[in-house]
Amino acid sequence: MVEFLMPLYDLLHRRIDYLRISVTDRCNLSCAYCKPRAEMKVLPHREILSYEEILRLVALAVPLGISRVRVTGGEPLVRRGIVEFISALNALGGLEDISITTNGVLLDEMADALFNAAKPRLNISLDSLHADKFRKITGSDNYEQVWRGIKRAEELGFFPLKLNMVPVRGMNDDEVADFARLTLDRRFHVRFIEYMPIGDDDRWNRDACVPADEVRATIEREVGPLKPFASGNSAGPSINYQLPGARGVIGFISPITRHFCESCRRLRLTADGKIRPCLLSDTEIDVKSSLRRGCDDAELERLFRIALELKPDRHRVNESGAFSFKRTMSKIGG
Ligand code: SAM
Repeated sequence: MVEFLMPLYDLLHRRIDYLRISVTDRCNLSCAYCKPRAEMKVLPHREILSYEEILRLVALAVPLGISRVRVTGGEPLVRRGIVEFISALNALGGLEDISITTNGVLLDEMADALFNAAKPRLNISLDSLHADKFRKITGSDNYEQVWRGIKRAEELGFFPLKLNMVPVRGMNDDEVADFARLTLDRRFHVRFIEYMPIGDDDRWNRDACVPADEVRATIEREVGPLKPFASGNSAGPSINYQLPGARGVIGFISPITRHFCESCRRLRLTADGKIRPCLLSDTEIDVKSSLRRGCDDAELERLFRIALELKPDRHRVNESGAFSFKRTMSKIGG
């Protein structure tokens, strides 16, 4: 039985109940728009929070109202012991939702164990439906392997199974209609996520970001009309639709063109032990130093509350000259 303390609200009275945890900065892919090979420096192991440290933080955050946790990276499935960690998260009690964001490369071999461990919800990132383009984007030949993983997860009964696609102009935006068609006979939840300025400052430019409205118009023109789809859980930022007669769902996440900061309920925990109040801001609070100094729970709770005081009202990506911050998706966790 979890005893609730004063819940986490930020200064704008946003109730914070969602923690995204990056368990590693390492990844088995090097996606052109996320972390190209040239940026593939990894942190030494001692810089990364241990599972015990993460579990202590989550155990402390649950009575403060954190009820949903997403495990991400880097690529979370490359970290040794990840299945046992998911089990341990589940065993903490008090978490209503545990999910994983993965590129799916190791899913074929790990799906059964994950299902048995805690049946987390799965989001699988996939940016092309062609093996050659997948290779160009990710620098790897794992396209078929990812699909074996997706199929295995489907067979096991992971549901909903979300496929995340980031359309980048000139890279894969010609595939959005085909991604939408995947929902016609499969129960996939295909989500289009706007390309954000994360990673090297010079890589992102506004023109490369394909606005959600444009993706939606392309789908309506090439596949069919989209009707609003009301999902039971409206807590997320995805605006959902369905094609006529489709089994699956299509979602749009538009952090750039229609930000949802006013309803943001998230904090992030970086792989190297910092709490990040906002993905698109450099502000972070160091919890690792306190943990490793042997601090008590009251100090950790205070750090969570300081993070909330520093949570910005909204991101400022749409204001020119606002990109002075340095963001590394792998460390922060997408
Ligand atoms: N390795 C895992 C994966 O691929 O799902 C988890 C980490 S990855 C950083 C999480 C998500 O962030 C992926 O869906 C990826 O497409 C997305 N992502 C990475 N860079 C992005 C960017 N600049 N804008 C929008 N999404 C991005």
